[in-house]
Amino acid sequence: MKAAYFKEHGGSEKILYGDYRDPAVATGEVLVRVRACALNQVDMLLLDGRFPPPEGLPHVNGCEVTGTVEATGAGVRGLAPGQRVIIFPGFSCGACEYCLRGERTVCIRYGYLGAHRDGGYAELVKAPAANLISLPEAISFEDGAALPLAAVTAWHALVVQAQLRPGQTVLVQAAGSGVGSAAIQIARLIGARVMTTVGADDKVEFARSLGAEHVVNYRTQDFVDAARTWTGKRGVDVVVEHIGGETFERSTYALTRLGTLVSIGSHDTHWGRLDLRHVYSKNLRIVGTNLGSILELQAILDLVAVGRLRAIVDRAFPLSEARAAVQHVLDRRNRGKVLLVP
Ligand SMILES: [Zn+2]
Repeated sequence: MKAAYFKEHGGSEKILYGDYRDPAVATGEVLVRVRACALNQVDMLLLDGRFPPPEGLPHVNGCEVTGTVEATGAGVRGLAPGQRVIIFPGFSCGACEYCLRGERTVCIRYGYLGAHRDGGYAELVKAPAANLISLPEAISFEDGAALPLAAVTAWHALVVQAQLRPGQTVLVQAAGSGVGSAAIQIARLIGARVMTTVGADDKVEFARSLGAEHVVNYRTQDFVDAARTWTGKRGVDVVVEHIGGETFERSTYALTRLGTLVSIGSHDTHWGRLDLRHVYSKNLRIVGTNLGSILELQAILDLVAVGRLRAIVDRAFPLSEARAAVQHVLDRRNRGKVLLVP
């Protein structure tokens, strides 16, 4: 098959396009013909070596995949060749202490499609049958591929970890990112009020169109001051943070007392400082989150199918132009998800 893969760590120039080994389907697994695969920030960490692929190089990125069933391994039932499917990207063992507690996202053997095994920057990809769900006819392959990681992560962060309620105020970092554009919409669906940040003035209207009430260009305005002004000096109830570094630290200053910061990524840096006085004196909650469940993906698909949530697709590149697609994301030119289409 053809794939976009890399043999060495670095920037987009390390992405190669060409022949790659076909996935070998084992018992309980399904071979999927990829119709669309979304790029994700974790792809960039795998590529540049900040999060080296656990199984080594060469490696194929791509954790958000839609496609059709090409073939099924032994023991697979209920999936027929040609069926439209979406792959839930998280793998868990089902047997460790945390899986048995129902918290599969913190499984001690947790893995991601496109990280712990080859992903969807390819014509074919394999996944356990248990990770596949039907893609409703109402959702295109392209829209579907924009959902499984970014939207599920944003959903789990806001609904489960922050327990966001109607009327609360939320600061969502980086409206232009996949997770940011999903978080704004989900917060609005809950009935919360949203402020968000963008890195360029030409993304302000985009952020408003998603439902953000207040949009701040973080390059020209201080988002902490803006959050205080927007909330009448009170601070916001919830921050969705995925940048790290100074953005993480300053996000805690934007919180009101009893506020919650949900950390869902570290796209700039894995490190962040905290002024602990804010944490203990205001009884803040700093919680991490990592993807969500396959049931949450099903809930999101149902909402997209009936038009209550939108998949935000920036643009699709042919698989053969994966290098340009990766550079487009690295340059932060995207508004929503960037896709590869074989
Ligand atoms: Zn487990």
